[in-house]
Parts: sequence; structure tokens; C-alpha cells
Amino acid sequence: MRIEAVLSLGGNFPETPELFRKLPALLAEEGIDLCAISSILRSAPLDCPEGTPDFFNAAAVVQTALEPEALLDALQRIERKCGRPAEHGVHESRTLDLDILLYGKRRFVSERLTIPHPRALERDFVMRPLTELGERYVRQLRHLSAKTPS
Ligand code: ATP
Ligand code: CA
Ligand code: CA
Repeated sequence: MRIEAVLSLGGNFPETPELFRKLPALLAEEGIDLCAISSILRSAPLDCPEGTPDFFNAAAVVQTALEPEALLDALQRIERKCGRPAEHGVHESRTLDLDILLYGKRRFVSERLTIPHPRALERDFVMRPLTELGERYVRQLRHLSAKTPS
């Protein structure tokens, strides 16, 4: 069954916007269809060493038959193909960062993957492109991120 997932795209290399434009082909090689992509938001770095270049961010809706962790594997292969090393400091500059914001209507938690992305709601550079894709994604993210009674 094909699931609709929503991705957050980031990066702060001069080639990052060009990599965003190449994403339809890069995703297709992994069996992922790109359905919609937001415009590119450029913002000054937060909590980064002086001299860190501006960040580019966008959000994208994709369709895939891959399960959540297989989707993460595919996105990490694309990141590496685009020149990002496998080992990577959290605030280090990067060519391309692909995070999973939403995976259908599911919550998913494992050692290496949390969906919805746990820091999405607090990040303007994630929420602005997401809003452009549709208010329903923002509602879905808020709904799934809310704590369930235990
Ligand atoms: P942040 O997750 O705060 O945006 P980052 O994207 O810079 O930080 P990375 O170094 O790209 O962090 O990723 C670290 C790890 O986060 C990945 O190896 C992956 O296992 C894990 N991870 C957990 N949840 C997600 C998610 N929803 N999407 C992508 N990666 C995730
Ligand atoms: Ca990220
Ligand atoms: Ca990431």
C-alpha cells in the first residue's frame, strides 16, 4: 500500500537549492514519488558557530510503499549520495538533510526514528514550508505530536 509522507528538507551549502531541484529524480531512484514541494525558505543559522552559511529549507509531500525505517534508509542513502558524510555533527554544515515529519496518520517510535519529528513544531523553518503545503499537515502534526493519555 502506498502511504503519503511529508519530509522536511534542509541544508546550508551553496549547492543545496540545486539538490532540492534534483530531488524528484533522486527520490524516484528509491521508489519514492514526489507529489508536492514548497518554495525554498532561506534563513540565518541558529546556535551555530560564527561564519556558518545561511540555511535553505523546504517541505515535500511524497508517496511511497516503503515502511518508515526503510524510508529513512532511502533518505539517508540520498543524503550520502549528495555528499553528506555518514558521521555528522548535529550543528555541522550539511549539503542535504532529509527528515520525516509525517508518515500517513501514524505515530512511529524506534531507536533510530521518531514520527512525527519531535522538534518540528518548535521550528519556524520547518513549519513555514509545511503550512505552504497545506494547513491539514500542520493540524495532523499537532494532533499526532500531542501526548496521548497513558
Ligand atoms: P534534527 O533531527 O534535530 O533535525 P539533524 O537532522 O541534524 O537533527 P541528523 O544527524 O540528520 O540530525 O540525524 C540524526 C538521527 O536522527 C538520524 O540518524 C535518524 O536515525 C534520527 N531520526 C529520528 N527521527 C527522525 C526523523 N523523523 N527523520 C529523520 N531522522 C530521524
Ligand atoms: Ca534536521
Ligand atoms: Ca536529519
